Amino acid sequence: MVNRRHFVQLGTAAAAVTLTGRAGGAAPLEPLPADNPQAIALKYVEDVAANPPDGFPAGSGQDCSNCLHYKSLDDTWGSCALFPTFKVRGAGWCAGWVKQS
Ligand code: SF4
Repeated sequence: MVNRRHFVQLGTAAAAVTLTGRAGGAAPLEPLPADNPQAIALKYVEDVAANPPDGFPAGSGQDCSNCLHYKSLDDTWGSCALFPTFKVRGAGWCAGWVKQS
């Protein structure tokens, strides 16, 4: 039988998993590999200033750190909604970039 206290604990745990997309204790995200097919299709690069891909809007200031899909994990890396099982560099970029609102 589930009492009220247990129900609240279950709800809190479920909310945490929903917010993070992962259960606590899961392995940290690995960097998005350069040979990932979706990364290739979207022309992802880890350092857009040093290595801008074809089609990158020069002078736009776009990079992952100011993309709507980016959520910072630390000073260098963040998660990306387009690549949910990897982390991307804040200095990176891909053709899926969207301006933050
Ligand atoms: S969608 Fe945004 S955060 Fe994700 S890789 Fe592309 S530019 Fe970076």
